[in-house]
This record gives sequence, structure tokens and C-alpha cells, in this order.
Amino acid sequence: MTVWEEELRQCCTDPAQIARRFGLDPASAGAVAERYPVRLTPHLLGLIEGPDDPLGRQFLPHPAELDEDRLPEDPLAEETLSPTPAIVHRYRDRVLLLAANTCAAYCRFCTRKRRVGCRGRSVAFGEILAAIEYVAANPEIREVIVSGGDPLLMADGMLGEILGRLRKIPHIGLLRVATRTPAVLPARITASLAELLRRFAPLFLTTHFNHPRELSAEAAEACARLVDAGIPLANQTVLLRGVNDDAGTLADLFQGLLLLRVRPYYLHHPDPVHGTAHFAVPLTRGRDIMQELWRGTSGLAIPHYVVDTPGGKGKVPVHLVDTVDK
Ligand SMILES: *Cc1c(COP(=O)(O)O)cnc(C)c1O
Ligand code: SF4
Repeated sequence: MTVWEEELRQCCTDPAQIARRFGLDPASAGAVAERYPVRLTPHLLGLIEGPDDPLGRQFLPHPAELDEDRLPEDPLAEETLSPTPAIVHRYRDRVLLLAANTCAAYCRFCTRKRRVGCRGRSVAFGEILAAIEYVAANPEIREVIVSGGDPLLMADGMLGEILGRLRKIPHIGLLRVATRTPAVLPARITASLAELLRRFAPLFLTTHFNHPRELSAEAAEACARLVDAGIPLANQTVLLRGVNDDAGTLADLFQGLLLLRVRPYYLHHPDPVHGTAHFAVPLTRGRDIMQELWRGTSGLAIPHYVVDTPGGKGKVPVHLVDTVDK
């Protein structure tokens, strides 16, 4: 077993143990975990200080997840944009290939909370093959974003198999791999993985860091390994109440990412997903934060601030949204 597989095996998924360690109510933690799985990597266990710190808020179960908040399970209507189970095809020229349904750690604010980590939703290899066939049969698709769940929970062999089949499709230009592992399971980014990804160039890897405290020495090493292998990195951040909803924190995060040679790509306005109302931030607040960032930061450190429009119409830069606050 590799080091990262061993670390995955040591993840903590027991709500009682997590409750004891972080002083949560065990009954409530158990009830939340029954509906929405909880998983913490050893790396995260070392970073989380308590339920209210920026990492605890992102990863520890919270009673508000079970509130009757009247928010939809699938606000982006992904299930209706899915011509075959492992594909989400919303934009003409690019698709998501949901190649895995598990993650090293479960973010409490996840847009795909309805399905990630849920038993019975694991991705069969046949579904991945059907997804690749769909891509091959649709020449207007130029880019495939391999996502999930977290596709880097697959072993190198399986990942190479999927990327190799995609690379053979003549109309596919760019490949993208979206992963949270540099932040939560940095040991996954081995030299052999970097070498494997390099072989499928042009391939971008998108990371997901939300708070400067996630930029640990191990995460920095993981990013360096990828960039040194020639793999361009772009980062997606989700704006989250009580985690990063102030300009100072985001400026530190984005400048820190640049120093790791990771370009801040998107700042996502949080999606209105069932069980995540406690992370909601008003659009006006997000706009004020972006304005403050503009004044004090290198342009390279400024991501696009986007909101995903309900009903599956796609991401829109917030400065182009003239809707009322949501
Ligand atoms: C975000 C997203 C993409 C990628 O969009 P970019 O703006 O190119 O990063 C593709 N498909 C779906 C369904 C998405 O949600
Ligand atoms: S890593 Fe991504 S898919 Fe997995 S729980 Fe977090 S946000 Fe959701």
C-alpha cells in the first residue's frame, strides 16, 4: 500500500470519535453523519483546532445541516443535464466527467452533498466507459473536466486508463482534473502522479483551497511537485460565511496561492444547497469584498467572482448579475 492509501485508510469517519475529540454533541453529530457522510484525513485532524475555526467549520458536522431550510438538493439541476450517469453537460464545448463519488474529506458546504460519499452512488467502470463514449460521439466537446467526488482517490493505473482514453479522442484539446487532495491529502501528490499527469498535456489541475491555513508546508510541497512537472495549477475557492468572508483572509489566501505558483481562478458564491444555509453570504457582501481586494492586491491574485445560476444555466461573473440579492 502506498503512503497516501495508508493515510486514506486512517481517515476518521466515526462521528462519536469526532464529537469526543472536538467537543461536539455526539447525538447531533451522529444524526448529521447518517445523512451526510463525515470523513477527516489525518492531515486535517492535525490542522483543525475546533468547531468554529475556519477548518472545523468546513469539515466538522454541524446541526444546521439537518435544518428544514427549504433549499433544493440539486440547485444547479445537474441531474437533468446528465445524458449518461457520469456526465454533466451544461456548456456546449466542455463536460464534467464525474469519475469518482468519494472524497478524502467531506466538505460540509458541498454542492453535490446529495450524492458524494453516499452508498449506492459509487461510479462503476462501465459508467466511466459510457461517459468516454459520449465524449467521443460529440465532436463539439473540446474539453473534459475530470471531477467527482475526487478523481485523485482513484489509483494511478485507473486514472491513467481514463486520461489515456480521453487523450485518444481527436476533438479533445484540454483535459482538466479537479481535486481537493493538495489541501486535505497532500501525500496523494506523488512524483509518479505528477509524471503521469504530465504525459497527458495539455492538462490543467484545479485545486480547491478556501483558507490560508490550508496552505500548509505539505500542501506547498504538493503544488511544487505538480508545477515543477509542468502542470499548470488554478484554484477554486468557495466564499463561505465564518470561513473566508472577509477581504483580509482572502487576500492572504490568494497571495499565498500565487507564491505557490497557483493562479486564483474562481471565487464561487456559495450555492443554495440543502443543509448549507449556515454558509450563505449575501451577494452584496461578496461584491464589497472583491472591491476591497482590487484596491490592495496584484491583479494575478484576483479570481473571477462567479455565481452559479439556479436551474442549470451556468456560472455568471457577479458583476454581470443584475438580479436581486439571493
Ligand atoms: C463549472 C463547470 C464547468 C467548467 O466551467 P469553466 O467556467 O470553464 O471553469 C463545466 N461544466 C459544468 C457543469 C460546470 O459546472
Ligand atoms: S472535495 Fe469537492 S466534491 Fe468532495 S466534498 Fe469537498 S466540495 Fe464536495
